[in-house]
Amino acid sequence: MLESLNPVASCKKYGVSIWQCPQFLFVIIGLVIIIAIVITYFLAVFRIGDPTIVSLLVLSVGAFSLALNFIITNSFERMAEVSKLKSEFIHIVSHQLRAPLTNINFTLDFLTSTKMVPTKEEQVEYQEILRENSLRMGDLIDNLLTVARIESGDFPLIKNKVSLEDIAQKLIVKFKPYSIASNIKLMLLVADHSLVVLADPLWVEQVMENFVDNAIKYTKGGGEVKIKIFRRNTAVFFEVQDDGVGIPPREQKLIFEKFFRSANALKKQTEGTGLGLHIAKKIIEKLGGKIGFSSKENKGSTFWFCLPIQKNG
Ligand code: ADP
Repeated sequence: MLESLNPVASCKKYGVSIWQCPQFLFVIIGLVIIIAIVITYFLAVFRIGDPTIVSLLVLSVGAFSLALNFIITNSFERMAEVSKLKSEFIHIVSHQLRAPLTNINFTLDFLTSTKMVPTKEEQVEYQEILRENSLRMGDLIDNLLTVARIESGDFPLIKNKVSLEDIAQKLIVKFKPYSIASNIKLMLLVADHSLVVLADPLWVEQVMENFVDNAIKYTKGGGEVKIKIFRRNTAVFFEVQDDGVGIPPREQKLIFEKFFRSANALKKQTEGTGLGLHIAKKIIEKLGGKIGFSSKENKGSTFWFCLPIQKNG
């Protein structure tokens, strides 16, 4: 009860700065209005100064109140956004975390059941299921934390000279077993081996990994995934082309939206969070680059980003 009368305590509860806190701003605006009324009253009573000064004063007070109103509206917007994020978070957590958790629980029930004694092979198989599902949960949590950091503005990126080709070579090694298991031919085509960009190596690698992972994930067996690195004007392009499921035209505008997953992708691949491309766009734009894609349903997609070229050496 007492807390609701204390604006500072209420602001702390919402976790916003005092100048973004509606309760505090309402108190301030109230005080400003009272002071403005008193000043106007005295000016009128004693007729000090000419009417121009009085009008200027009233105008300034009005402008100040307007500015405060603007801040209040913004802070309300921010709160609405936070509340939207919370409901999205609850939605994603309930849907995406429940599935691996259910798998883990079933597997544990089976392994600890006294009725069935699992063979050695079954034990190895079930341990693998446990590992995969806990990795899936870990990935989702990492992505959610990255989105939260990006949205709070606490997302510093370093800029070092980076060869996208070196990262791509690493990714080829990393994804080889996955592409072989999925019967997909994975190729790297580099037009110029001297290309260097300014970027945060870890985060740019995450973007490249997301493109390659998606390309393999959303392509049928027997397909091809081509990774290309080339220069166009003053930019270095990283492009991943696949001949997979593609993206339906009506859904293409939503592809970089948080949590978005297209209907055909959901059919082909149930695992995924819809956060990878959203994070990728934020990272590339923060590094001063551009990101985009072209896609035809059932024919394939090409995802690309470009960063300004740097002189090597
Ligand atoms: P996730 O793959 O975990 O769902 P992403 O943010 O990486 O999340 O991708 C968002 C959505 O974009 C995917 O669910 C899929 O619908 C679509 N998508 C991304 N890459 C491709 C691709 N190469 N081919 C077809 N659809 C894709």
